[in-house]
Amino acid sequence: MADNKKMVEAITSMDVDFAQWYTDVVKKAELCDYASVKGCMVIKPAGYAIWENIQNELDRRFKETGVQNVYMPIFIPESLLEKEKDHVEGFAPEVAWVTHGGLEPLQERMCVRPTSETLFCDFYAKDIHSYRDLPRVYNQWCSVVRWEKTTRPFLRSREFLWQEGHTAHATAEEAEARTIQMLNVYAAFCEEVLAIPVIKGQKTDKEKFAGAEATYTIESLMHDGKALQSGTSHNFGDGFAKAFDIQFTDKDNTLKYVHQTSWGMTTRMIGALIMVHGDDNGLVLPPRIAPVQVMIVPVQQQKEGVLDKAFQLEDRLKKAGFSVKTDDSEKSPGWKFADCEMRGIPLRVEIGPKDMEKNQAVLVRRDTHEKSFISLDELETKVSEMLDTIQKAMYDKAKAHRDSHTYEAVEWDGFVDTINNKPGFVKAMWCGCQECEDKIKEETGATSRCMPFEQENLSDTCICCKKPAKKMVYWGRAY
Ligand SMILES: [Zn+2]
Repeated sequence: MADNKKMVEAITSMDVDFAQWYTDVVKKAELCDYASVKGCMVIKPAGYAIWENIQNELDRRFKETGVQNVYMPIFIPESLLEKEKDHVEGFAPEVAWVTHGGLEPLQERMCVRPTSETLFCDFYAKDIHSYRDLPRVYNQWCSVVRWEKTTRPFLRSREFLWQEGHTAHATAEEAEARTIQMLNVYAAFCEEVLAIPVIKGQKTDKEKFAGAEATYTIESLMHDGKALQSGTSHNFGDGFAKAFDIQFTDKDNTLKYVHQTSWGMTTRMIGALIMVHGDDNGLVLPPRIAPVQVMIVPVQQQKEGVLDKAFQLEDRLKKAGFSVKTDDSEKSPGWKFADCEMRGIPLRVEIGPKDMEKNQAVLVRRDTHEKSFISLDELETKVSEMLDTIQKAMYDKAKAHRDSHTYEAVEWDGFVDTINNKPGFVKAMWCGCQECEDKIKEETGATSRCMPFEQENLSDTCICCKKPAKKMVYWGRAY
């Protein structure tokens, strides 16, 4: 393997320097490149194909729950952004402003959307009149701009792609139910498709979305033990409705404010895929999200009939519904194997003259490098079984890693020691005061990731101040 690695250029070992390993994988798997605009990225075909698969699968799941797609403008007039006080305070430090139209200064400057609550609210105020107009369950796929100071490909960039759902409901109960429903859609998508296990819970007031009554989150753990917020769902109550005057006439003929939600998932999930599943040979993609699930590599392809056979297998697998390619380039098989690994293709099928004599092919799993020989008569079933096996094994491995990197602390010294020396989640009790949260962040760099729905009572007192505890919280250093 050492030779093959050289051919595709070795990447930094993840145990030596995880950040450099990440950058190497992003670059060598050709997912994205730097743009001439600082903090922005060029998403290349291999990266964008993953995003398209994320979009397709999420969109299908959204629509099953009644979501409709719309599109809002990219610009927000300053007066609109300022209507909800907490919201503008939360986003003002990182918005980009448009001050000129052509050569003329604008009468009112406009920001490039950092998120679109204000635009949806402005629209709903004009468009919702009666209880018959509710619920509104809209979503848009777009990019947003946040002028971040430090950026990293996929994880934090000044412009990124996402979807943002914005709903309006007649009652508080309905809005809360929708908030939880969408969190569950995200959790199921992460676990079933991306093979990433998640913790579902609620953000503390300090960490919640600017303007939200409650923010729910799914948190996942990367290979280096850092947490990643993977999707959020917010219940706004009627706060935005009051600020934007979104009222409807209810069945009892009285005017009422709507209750709203919003929820989003972004291209940072590509970063999560890299950091949860990747290894020292490159990217490892779960079969259900991989743009290419199977790569056929002909061995001794100059020998008569080998390439024809490879294309025949490709045809058969395509007809069976798999996403498959054949690498018929002039490169050596060793180079092709390493290239497949770098790009994270879940399954490799090798076929050469000796295999043809025996009516067999070699299957090689990307996740474990295990080889197996299969009869060509059973190609479709064996490939299908193998992809299912890989999908499940990748989830199990990620979950085992997360579980073995989740710790408990009941006293302060142990908590600090764990945060400093054992990268991962630390479960500890909390009194509910922001002072303790601030102190924990200041002294350890860890933030509260969430108050999980599945609560445990580890002790009766706060890990920080020893006052009576209210919640068990997952803490960790995060991306
Ligand atoms: Zn406390």
